[in-house]
Amino acid sequence: MGVETVRDAPIPTWFGVGGRADHFAEPASMDELRALIDRFEGCVRVLGDGANLLVDDAGVGGVVVSLAKMTGVTGPIEPVEGEGVVVLRVGAGASLPRLIIETVRAGLGGLEGLGGIPATLGGAVRMNAGGAFGEIASVVRAVRGVTLVGEPFERRRGEIPFGYRRSGLAQVVITEVDLALTPADPARLRDRLKEVMAAKKASQPLAERSAGCVFKNPTVSGERVSAGRLIDAAGCKGLRIGSASVSAVHANFITADRGGSARDVLALIERVGERVAEVHGVTLERELVVWGREDAP
Ligand SMILES: Cc1cc2nc3c(=O)[nH]c(=O)nc-3n(C[C@H](O)[C@H](O)[C@H](O)COP(=O)(O)OP(=O)(O)OC[C@H]3O[C@@H](n4cnc5c(N)ncnc54)[C@H](O)[C@@H]3O)c2cc1C
Repeated sequence: MGVETVRDAPIPTWFGVGGRADHFAEPASMDELRALIDRFEGCVRVLGDGANLLVDDAGVGGVVVSLAKMTGVTGPIEPVEGEGVVVLRVGAGASLPRLIIETVRAGLGGLEGLGGIPATLGGAVRMNAGGAFGEIASVVRAVRGVTLVGEPFERRRGEIPFGYRRSGLAQVVITEVDLALTPADPARLRDRLKEVMAAKKASQPLAERSAGCVFKNPTVSGERVSAGRLIDAAGCKGLRIGSASVSAVHANFITADRGGSARDVLALIERVGERVAEVHGVTLERELVVWGREDAP
């Protein structure tokens, strides 16, 4: 099947810096996606909303795939007797913020704690997006998609090794997610969503060009501690390398100037990591995904 691809295409990310894709495509079906995997021999990267992604300045080879045409919602598909949940089947390219608004309006609870997180559904599941108000893993019932060797797969919730900001779903394209949501009063869900959004606005530079938290919160002496607080205490707030700076609002956010470079962001990430290691003796692990030409997809 001949899916159209665009050559030397920009890769839209929230950072707004970095290189281009040798090929870019928007498959509209599983068949089209599998044809692309076949044609590019598995050298396929999936772009979600680009909200946790930095692309190296040299760009990437193979094909970058966006699932912007795979966003349909079907459901309820399973009335789950005795569990009190409604299951929706949603295309992985769906916008998470839009889905949150729609489910809140429909009186289906479970996603409202993820307000203010920019993502596609597939990207949110892959990263197990979340925070103080919950994480997406708690409403995932099943995930379907295709592996990078073109094999369809399905994993039920219990088979997915979800953890803090990870799902273990690597080397796959997630195309569809079943969400188990709980019927609730829409007004109560809306109030909760407003509370969550207000907390996010007060603590994060939502309007700047960033990818959210760069580092995971590390575990120190058995306890999860805030990476932002460690970075701040290491004197990194406001630190700048070229076009990249550590946000003055939230020290775990790095922001990029318009027209800046991925190289500056990467250098600043390294500098911050070194300072935190020197001052606190803690090695920070990156949450941000970085795509480089030399790396395997
Ligand atoms: C202002 C701001 C605030 C943020 N706040 C939070 C927060 O509170 N909590 C939080 O967890 N995150 C937060 N983030 C980070 C980001 O929103 C999440 O990591 C989100 O899950 C990224 O989803 P995405 O669709 O943009 O994925 P992308 O950034 O496009 O991709 C991230 C990774 O997921 C993979 N991926 C994407 N779609 C699929 C798919 N369909 N199948 C397989 N792999 C896929 C990509 O290949 C890549 O490896 C924030 C980001 C910003 C910019």
